[in-house]
Amino acid sequence: MSMSVAPGGTIGILGGGQLGRMLAMAAARLGLRAHIYSDEAGAPAFQVCDAHTHARYDDDAALAKFADACDAITFEFENIPERAVALLARHKPTHPGARALAPTQDRLLEKQLLRSLGLETAPFFDVSDPAEAFAELGGRGILKTRRFGYDGKGQAKVSSAEETRAALQSFKGAPSILEGFVDFAFEASVIGARGADGSFAAYDPPENVHEHHILRRSVVPGRLTPEQSEAAKAIARRVAEALDYVGVFCVELFVLESGALVVNEIAPRVHNSGHWTLDACLVSQFEQHIRAVAGWPLGSPARHSDAVMENLIGDEATDWQALAEKDGALHLYGKREARPGRKMGHITWIKARS
Ligand code: AMP
Repeated sequence: MSMSVAPGGTIGILGGGQLGRMLAMAAARLGLRAHIYSDEAGAPAFQVCDAHTHARYDDDAALAKFADACDAITFEFENIPERAVALLARHKPTHPGARALAPTQDRLLEKQLLRSLGLETAPFFDVSDPAEAFAELGGRGILKTRRFGYDGKGQAKVSSAEETRAALQSFKGAPSILEGFVDFAFEASVIGARGADGSFAAYDPPENVHEHHILRRSVVPGRLTPEQSEAAKAIARRVAEALDYVGVFCVELFVLESGALVVNEIAPRVHNSGHWTLDACLVSQFEQHIRAVAGWPLGSPARHSDAVMENLIGDEATDWQALAEKDGALHLYGKREARPGRKMGHITWIKARS
């Protein structure tokens, strides 16, 4: 049974970055209030919500008080401490739930789950003995920490047993997996959504270009064929059903020259490669997530326009006057300091569907 949150109700969001900010604005469009909880003073999402809590994610009293003030709860980042998720879920409907989050927080469990669903992944080995793991892999690889990696953090390319050992040392021995290097033609992703009633919707999958491990641009339609797009959506549906997922999520894909789709990872949240949905779809990924979490029917993921989304990273948003003159849709995240690699905003160009 699922209860829906009526307009006027409050959606609690853990995390106060740009994703929380865009979720709060989407909630407002539906007449819902957002309460943001973040451990960061002056978090970007605090600027656009009805209420906020500034506290640590292990502050049980603050979490309980926050839960009491909300009607449903969700997250904008995946590395939420398990304890916090369990505590919140005891108070209020919380999505995605602990069962869905666990395998997405650990690269080994995640890959094992994907394989059990019959999906393709890069070859992977648990690295307790780096020399042995490298020998089994037999080629170029990427060492990745099992937990807490993002935007290339906790990752190192390796091409020998010695490099594998050194990389593991640089991770201070953190449990890691060694992945085979995938020689892909290009990268893509699919943003899916599952409602509390089990309904499913997916957006047209964009092609994604990364630079220095950070998303540079998403293009839709990209080079995926219509058949590959449908296959990507089917993969998303499979993952969502296996996790009994409620909300929006992203499946990142490598597209091989052969046409095969290899799953890189699952992000249990709204995703940077779905930002174009704000301007090119009737219902954005942010509104879709709020609808799912609030127990509303999912909206249409139909795309009315073709889109190119470019991230504004580091000092790229400093000259905001020049950006404001472009004929794209400018989104700035309200961050005071432009550190290298920090996502400061994005700009989306749209044109009528081809
Ligand atoms: P991840 O943090 O796992 O999403 O990886 C970030 C980026 O690193 C990906 O989007 C790819 O561009 C690259 N990458 C990650 N894993 C692999 C792999 N096994 N083979 C080739 N490139 C990879």
